[in-house]
Amino acid sequence: MKDLRNADRFLSHLESLFSVTFEDARAIIGHFHQEMRYGLAGEESSLKMLPSFVGRPQGTEKGQFLALDLGGTNFRVLAVALDGKGHAAIVAVCKVAIPQELMQGACDGLFDFIADSIQAFFREHRLSQQQAYALAFTFSFPVEQSSIASGKLIEWTKGFTASGVEGRDVVALLSEALKRRELGFIRVAALANDTVGTLVAGSYAEPSCDMGVILGTGTNACYPEKAARIRKRPELEACGEMIVNTEWGNFDKLKTNVYDRLLDGASRNAGRQRLEKMVSGMYLGEIARRVIVEMTGQGLLFEGKGQAAFAGEYALTAEHLSMLSGGSDIFAGLGLADVSAADGQAIREIGRIVSTRSARIAGAAIAAVVTWMDAHLEAGHTVAIDGSLFEKYPGYQDAMRLLLQDLFGNRAARIKLELVRDGSGIGSAIIGAVAASSRC
Ligand code: ADP
Ligand code: MG
Repeated sequence: MKDLRNADRFLSHLESLFSVTFEDARAIIGHFHQEMRYGLAGEESSLKMLPSFVGRPQGTEKGQFLALDLGGTNFRVLAVALDGKGHAAIVAVCKVAIPQELMQGACDGLFDFIADSIQAFFREHRLSQQQAYALAFTFSFPVEQSSIASGKLIEWTKGFTASGVEGRDVVALLSEALKRRELGFIRVAALANDTVGTLVAGSYAEPSCDMGVILGTGTNACYPEKAARIRKRPELEACGEMIVNTEWGNFDKLKTNVYDRLLDGASRNAGRQRLEKMVSGMYLGEIARRVIVEMTGQGLLFEGKGQAAFAGEYALTAEHLSMLSGGSDIFAGLGLADVSAADGQAIREIGRIVSTRSARIAGAAIAAVVTWMDAHLEAGHTVAIDGSLFEKYPGYQDAMRLLLQDLFGNRAARIKLELVRDGSGIGSAIIGAVAASSRC
């Protein structure tokens, strides 16, 4: 009984360590606006605010397009048909998990793998190799673009470290790999971030959509900006409106705790992607695992006996926490027999605390971008959101909405959070179409 009470005490302390209060959310918004301003001006900022060289679509774009979607976990090749009336359909898709050794290997290996997957896609769907194709490339990492179809990788995130890619034009690298595989008849017509794809997919169907968000392996967001406000690139002014990729995963004006600092210190990109490490699917399980190890060390879980299942970094995933929260038994799958009801309940509680913080930080960050565009929420805003964390984690969307209600009361109803499944892939195909008529 004594231990149980101590476990409860630990968990209530944990809850305060991970809390995002109303004041915290207001502070996040204030710092966000400041960092957005600096980022747009080209001054030192944790928000890179990268111009994307596309605006929002009209909804009338039409035709069939090829798209590649290189996310954090999976790689997809898609053929997408646009009907010119706001409806986009995936005609064919092929999804491949990216082998770890390629994520962390050499440049050519990774791009050859991508080209091989496109070749397999052509074969599987019996597509003619005798005609020309325009392909849009969704590449979900920070890229400094110089046009709609060129851009250099600034730095890898989300566990990727493949050598020889940072600082190079990823469209050129892809085009060279396509030629090596005799796929030179495919022209890479557009390069887009997954957030930009998601916003474009959302606004193709719904004109009030003015924000794209990813909550999956990583997290990021974009919004349409008046080109004149992108002060670091005055030459873009003629473009009118341009979508800006905030790269908010790197936002670092946040209250961190001991678990965040340990996770960051042990990561491959210490000091960077601080918001991502508190919010996105790749890290939630690892935060929870570190809490579990601490509680076990204090004798508050598993009668103080260390469990091999939780010994390795990243052994616990967001998917585990999500399933546990949904009522599934994850412990047998982790090789743990006879987990007591109290221990199971405590771990579920850790998952709730860690995922609620994630949702509240994501909600505050959305509030920041929306109020940047519309300080007093005078208009309606639809936020297109893609990613398994948002889609599947029980209670996640409710926790985000609750934060927005805390901040804005009834006016929170003017911010619609909408799941745009596969937005990043569909959107890049639309960007391929937009590219054809782009002014920039
Ligand atoms: P990507 O980010 O690679 O484009 P997803 O949007 O599908 O792909 O996100 C995958 C991430 O989502 C995984 O890394 C994992 O952290 C998390 N995830 C996967 N399944 C679930 C689930 N059922 N509930 C919550 N999170 C999940
Ligand atoms: Mg994705």
